Amino acid sequence: MSTTIPSSCRVPLFVGKKEIKFEEKAVPEPGAGQLLLRVRANALCGSERPQFFDGTPVTPGHEATGTVVAAGPGTRTPVGTSGAVFLMDYCGECRSCRLGFTNQCLQKRGDMGFNRDGGYGQFELVHENIFFPVPDEFSPTETTLLLDIMGTGGHAVERCRLMRPDIESLLVSGAGPIGLGVLAMAKIIMGQQLKVLISDVVPYRLCLAEGLGGLPINVGQMSLSAGIQSHGLALVDMAVDTSGKQVARQEAVDSLAQRGSLICVGHGEGMALKISPDIIAPERSIVGSEYFRYNELSANLQRLREHRAYLSQIITHRMGVDQQAFEAFLFGCETGKVIIEQ
Ligand SMILES: [Zn+2]
Ligand SMILES: [Zn+2]
Repeated sequence: MSTTIPSSCRVPLFVGKKEIKFEEKAVPEPGAGQLLLRVRANALCGSERPQFFDGTPVTPGHEATGTVVAAGPGTRTPVGTSGAVFLMDYCGECRSCRLGFTNQCLQKRGDMGFNRDGGYGQFELVHENIFFPVPDEFSPTETTLLLDIMGTGGHAVERCRLMRPDIESLLVSGAGPIGLGVLAMAKIIMGQQLKVLISDVVPYRLCLAEGLGGLPINVGQMSLSAGIQSHGLALVDMAVDTSGKQVARQEAVDSLAQRGSLICVGHGEGMALKISPDIIAPERSIVGSEYFRYNELSANLQRLREHRAYLSQIITHRMGVDQQAFEAFLFGCETGKVIIEQ
């Protein structure tokens, strides 16, 4: 496959105040160890809100998939290979990376779409080690599921399982894309018998969650504890917060049974703890979960193959790069994952 690579292309520029302009930018040439991708899809993410409001000199987009169109010296990936881009440009050599903890790299070269140009342009330059090849049987849009949805969601589930082996119930706070990802991956990894309760205030999102086998709780209409009781439980074994809201975290901890953990995935507000009754006596814990490790991608590719239609329900919109796409996602409540296709 050969693609003619133009010397420059139109790239969206996030100028701030919710405005996107387009500018002509030079298409970079891959240096040693680098690949140039023709981006085909990039999922929108709530973490891009500050870039949309405050502007950024970098081209955003950290859930990109595309095809290699040029490969720099010393690379082994053939031109024409399709795949997904891991957000963190990890070094591969530090103590964390050597143990596989590539989401905790101690000398990261950058974060794609945040301080390196990301996937909303037509071309993206990446180091080969953060490119994950995916067979052509998966479309670019399906391939984005491997990133924040399955990757971040699955990593949070793995953090749960690290804390206790006997999980029968899980509460997910927030039914946005990450919450839906946690729900879906919890069902896939821990089995359909697992009770996954999921809270939100948006009926559309709760409806999507129900379609994925979640037990919805509309916390705009009832208290969290009443919602948990309505599904036949008094407390939950584990909780994952994707909302980033203090009140949600606080209520989640109060809903945990003994030996339960709250896994924090959503960035945002803080929380207050009474260490003796909240943590020591019931042996509960609060655990962080940041993105995922590159080496989780291959197991997730197999899971995507097995649960393709189920996971694809999380993708509700496909659009071009423009303001409306961002507005629909960032200000509307009636979307699951929105994918920019180009
Ligand atoms: Zn994201
Ligand atoms: Zn490293």
